[in-house]
Amino acid sequence: MKTLEEALKLEYDDANANVTVSGIPVILMSKSTFGAFHKELISVLGRSAEGVLYHAGYEAGKKGFKLMKQWWNFETREEIISAYAQQFPRFGWMNLETVEVNDQKNEVTITVKNSFETRKYGGQAEKPVCHYIRGFLCGFAESAFGMESLRCDEVRCQGRGDEVCEFVLKPMFW
Ligand SMILES: [Zn+2]
Repeated sequence: MKTLEEALKLEYDDANANVTVSGIPVILMSKSTFGAFHKELISVLGRSAEGVLYHAGYEAGKKGFKLMKQWWNFETREEIISAYAQQFPRFGWMNLETVEVNDQKNEVTITVKNSFETRKYGGQAEKPVCHYIRGFLCGFAESAFGMESLRCDEVRCQGRGDEVCEFVLKPMFW
């Protein structure tokens, strides 16, 4: 498995307005700008916005896993978790605190801190707010742990003042 510095290469191509991470174009956006966008979406569209964020996150989590494999060349489950635990904070997304996988039940519990989706809410949200990350972790877990048709619920969230964000992933059908 590669190191963080080997896996992630940040490059600038001003002539084409491209910033790339290991060849993938990205945009840099302040957390405040993203937070305002997130808050506005939810306040205007409510639950439909939650679904849009979730599904966008899910697709990114699935596709992202393939990229991560190329970038990091990980093999074991421990290496996969280690790669994500290093990359999430480097991208400014969040700190991955714990990942517990129950293969018998096909269940995964993940806790994170400092999620970029919680920042604008300052602990004052009425309910969990990390819908994009919830979807992302679902796509990630299906790919990383060979599980199918998971659903992901956020049961604790720093956005509403909890100590961590906690995500519980279980089979959608039973
Ligand atoms: Zn949260």
